[in-house]
Amino acid sequence: MSIIRKTKTVKLLLKEFNKSNEAISVIELIDKFNKKMDKTTVYRILDRLEDSRILHSFVDQDGLKRYAKGASNTDFNNEPEIHPHFLCEDCGTSSCLPVTIQIPDIPNYTIKSAEHLLIGRCKDCVS
Ligand SMILES: [Zn+2]
Ligand SMILES: [Zn+2]
Repeated sequence: MSIIRKTKTVKLLLKEFNKSNEAISVIELIDKFNKKMDKTTVYRILDRLEDSRILHSFVDQDGLKRYAKGASNTDFNNEPEIHPHFLCEDCGTSSCLPVTIQIPDIPNYTIKSAEHLLIGRCKDCVS
C-alpha cells in the first residue's frame, strides 16, 4: 500500500469527493480540473487514491469509470461481500448503496471481483 502525499492536486480532488456521497466519473473530474491539472495527472492521482483504498471505482453502463469515497470491498480475501452501485437514468448521478451482496460460493470457481450496477430512479427523481 502506498502512502499518498497530500499535494495540492490530491487535496483538490479529494475535496470534490468530500462534498457529497455521489460517485464522480473520470470525465467529470477531468472537465472540472482542466485548468488546474492535465488529464494524466487526474488519472494518476485517482489510481493512487484507489491503491491506497481512499477511493474505489466501478464502471457504469456506458463503460465510464466512476469513483466513490471509501475502500473497495471487492477485496475478497478480507470481505466476501460487496456493495452494489446505483445509477439514476434520469439525472445520471450514481452512488454506493449501503447494502451488501453476498457472493455465492461456486465450486471450482475463484471469484476475484464482482460489480453490481443497479439502474433506476434516485430519490430526487422519483417524486
Ligand atoms: Zn436522479
Ligand atoms: Zn461503492
